[in-house]
Formats: sequence, structure tokens, C-alpha cells
Amino acid sequence: MTPEIISLIFPNPLPTPAEIEARYPRRNLPEGAKVTRVAPSPTGFMHVGTLYAGLLCERVAHQSGGVFYLRVEDTDQKRKVDGAMELIVKSLDRYGIRADEGVDVNGDDFGSYAPYTQSARRDIYQAYVKSLLEQGLAYPCFCAAEDLDIMRKIQEKTGVRPGYYGKYAKCRSLTDDQILENLKAGKPFVIRFKSSGDNNKRMIIKDLIKGDLALPENDIDVVIMKGDGLPTYHFAHAVDDHLMGTTHVTRGDEWVSSVPLHIQLFVALGWKAPKYAHFAPLQKTENGNKRKLSKRHDPEASLTYFWEKGYPEVALIEYMLNLINASFEDWRRNNPDKNAFDFPVNFNKISNAAGALFDFVKLHSISKEVVAKMTAAEVYEAVLKWASEYNKPFAERLAANREYVIRILNVERHIGKKSRKDIVKWEDVESDLTYFFDDLLTTTLEEKQALLKPLSENDIRLIADEFSAVYHPAEDKDTWFGHIKTIAEKHGFATDMKAFKENPAAFKGSVSDVAKVLRVLVTGRDKTPDLYEIMQILGVDRVKARLSF
Ligand code: GLU
Repeated sequence: MTPEIISLIFPNPLPTPAEIEARYPRRNLPEGAKVTRVAPSPTGFMHVGTLYAGLLCERVAHQSGGVFYLRVEDTDQKRKVDGAMELIVKSLDRYGIRADEGVDVNGDDFGSYAPYTQSARRDIYQAYVKSLLEQGLAYPCFCAAEDLDIMRKIQEKTGVRPGYYGKYAKCRSLTDDQILENLKAGKPFVIRFKSSGDNNKRMIIKDLIKGDLALPENDIDVVIMKGDGLPTYHFAHAVDDHLMGTTHVTRGDEWVSSVPLHIQLFVALGWKAPKYAHFAPLQKTENGNKRKLSKRHDPEASLTYFWEKGYPEVALIEYMLNLINASFEDWRRNNPDKNAFDFPVNFNKISNAAGALFDFVKLHSISKEVVAKMTAAEVYEAVLKWASEYNKPFAERLAANREYVIRILNVERHIGKKSRKDIVKWEDVESDLTYFFDDLLTTTLEEKQALLKPLSENDIRLIADEFSAVYHPAEDKDTWFGHIKTIAEKHGFATDMKAFKENPAAFKGSVSDVAKVLRVLVTGRDKTPDLYEIMQILGVDRVKARLSF
């Protein structure tokens, strides 16, 4: 391409590739240290898969003594949304995924390979586009969207592979004069890469997750610089991951088929390609079939869903690690007290190369374990923090009743031993507290009776009255239970469970039905944590008031 053409394409001065290389020296890291990055686009949506990718990359880098950085891929300016950057940074931060370099909540850079936002790297990309033009490895294309449409239709009709290649790459054969004429006429253009690939040949790609893949070479003259002067994803990937020294590109597998092109670009630019690790998108089961978690249809595709519901951050991290490497569960069993971030993550142990299944049952069981290990005060603080954002009236109630709520959360909480495992997420806690606040307890007598079927109202009343008469909060749990047993025996309820099982017809029920009467009347529920402790917290007056209906 003549200097005149090039200066019409790039009228402003650009740095030379050598100057850029000097600005971004090779990283001086110990042998085996991995450099990874997470590179979301600021679309205002934080996909739960980005947490998966971020965690995977961060662990791999830091466990190898390497560097993990955050890059903002905003070359598609049409999709950019205000506040999106902040969402990305805050999301990673919330889960303790710390980038060594990147951008902060304000969009300011930190790290020596800045800028980390692609739109601020325009000159850098253009310098390399210019260099490819000079070497005859790229060319301007003046095809309008309509021309490309017509071409695609012809290809469809004639049953040939779609794309800008071979004889369909019209602008590839423009003469310098034609190019000059178009540029001088102010015709809009993009820059395309001049591919030398042969689609009939295959190349072996070594993928760290998927293994060896034989993929056709790329013969498409892809756009590397768009009409707005910004690069396409492909070109920015090559330039940035080279200059920023990424050793392992870890990304969604929608990019697998582009690897032959990416390798071509690295070769054309005279660089060594990074290693690639492509993971499949998270899946979900629907009507017995697996499908990709969809941004449009599945609320849980967005990380904000987990914030609104109040899933503990550690629970989601543990769950993600479990999705990344199935051996996490064994590791957790053998290391119950270690920080989840100590779990060694490895590319070649990634579970489900075909796509990990996002399963709420598993997430919930992990979350229950996580919450069971927290102290009542820690749970209180976490719930308060959540409620302050998502349930203000509840936050006010919590703030006004700190000690009382901590006592409630402490029921059956025996850290290190068998602890209650009923809390999954902070959203659930409000309903667990209803019977501790008179104004929240709205269960009607009919509802209570329905829970106690088939006991007669008379039996219910007798049990309630007799217990009320003897209940004394200073008594220990054994004495407390002794009263319940006495009432049971007196009214024909079995206290010997074996005898009850052998001949249930001989009894009205068992001692546990008597306890259930008390539980339902006092709490409005048939399932609660330890009733003795609950009565202690409620206080004798409230217990007796609830028993006299
Ligand atoms: N911005 C790209 C995406 O969102 C990132 C892919 C990559 O990590 O290279 O798909």
C-alpha cells in the first residue's frame, strides 16, 4: 500500500510499533507464573459466568505467583451503558476477586500496562493496523452493508460457505488507484486482514480445557478496524493480550472457532500466541433438557439476582469452585476451616468441558453449610447489610433489636458442632423471625388448627392450658420436657416411641404431637428450631399469652 494511501487512512501521527513495545516491556515473572485476565464488556449486565471466569482466572494466576488483571472491552461503543464499569469492578470486589491491574470503580487505571480500557487504546491498535497495511497484510474495504447483504444472499442461494473470502473478498483486489479514488471521495471504509489461510486445511489447536482440537484454517478477511477507527474483538485481543503479556487466555468457548484467525493475527504481527483455555457456558436444566443459562430468560444469569436474594458471597464462591473443579467437595471435607481461595484450581481438572450445570439444590446445600459456620453476630451483620439495601423496613427492625435478633439467630447454633442448617440466604431470615415479633405473627386460629389436624380443639386446649400452668422459664430443658411427657401420658399420648410404633391405634398420638401443639400455638408453625430455646427468648408472658387462645 502506498504511503499516500496510508496517510489518507491515518492522517494523524501514530506511535510506531517499536515505541509501543518499549512502553509495554515483557513482564519479568518467575518461571511458570501465569498472567490471566477477565475482559468483560461494559453492557450494564454482569453475567454469573463472568464470576466463574474471573474466579478461575484469578486463582490460576495467583496460585502460580502470576498476575491477574481486568480489561474493559468497550470497542462496541453502541452497547456501552453508564455505570457499567462500576458494576463490573464492584462485582469482582464483592466476591474478593482482586485484580492486580485494571480499572477501579471510577474507571481510573492502575497498573503499568495501562490504559486497561480498550477505547482509550485507539492509537495503539491503529499503529499496528498501519503496520499491517504497510506490509500488505491488510487492506481497506469499501463494501457497504447492502453490498455485503447481497453477497450473503448469493452465497446462501448458491449453497456456498458465507463470508468475505476468496472471490467474494471484493475489495482485496482493488488497485491503489481505486483505493485512492475511494478515499479521496470520502467513502466510508473498514480495514480487513488479508488472510492467507486455506479452509480445506486443518490446524491443531491445543486447548487447556478442551484438549487438542482440529480446526479449519481461517480464510476469511475479517474486519480488524471498524469504520469508527476502533478495532474489532479479534484484533484487540491479539494486540492487548500480547502487549499486556497474557500467558493464558481464558474465555467462553464461543471464541473457539476464532482461534485459527487469532493465531494468524499473532503470526502476522510477529508475536507468540498465548495459551488458550475455553470453557463452555453455564447450563441449566429445563424440562429435563440442558440448555445455556440465558441472559434473557433466566434471572439467575445476572449476578444481581444473587444480591437481591442475599446469597452469602462465600457460598457463591464455594459453589463456583465446585463447578470449576469437582474435587472441591472432597477438598472442603478434608479442609473444613480453610479459606475457599486456598483450593488449588487447575485448568486440566475443569469439570464438564461441555458446560457446568448451575444447580440451585447444590448451591443451597453449600450455602446452608456456609451460614452454619457463621456466628449469630456475623449472620446478623450480613442480614442487616443486605436488608439495608433490599428490605428497608426489615433493616430498621433489625437495627432496633440487635441483641434480641442475635439471640434468636443463636438458637441451635453450635459452631464447630452440629449447627442449625436452615438459612440459605438473607432474604429467608425475615420469615424465620416472624414469631418473635407479635406484630408479624399473623397465623390465624384456623391455620393453627389445620396444622394440628386431626387433634380436637378440646385436646389442643387441654394441652395448652396444662402446659401453661406448669411452665417456668427458669427450669432446664429436661424438666421442661418432663412436663410435656406428663401431659402426654395423662391424655393418652405415647411417650414410649417403640410402643407407639408397634400399636399406634392404642394412642391419640405421641409425645411429639403434644410438643407440636405447643410449637404451633407459640410460633404458628409446625417446624422450628429448638422450642425450649424459642420459649426462653420469647419470655414467659408471651408464651402464656399465645397458649391461651
Ligand atoms: N469481551 C469478550 C467477551 O465478553 C471477552 C472475551 C475474552 O475474554 O477474550 O466475550
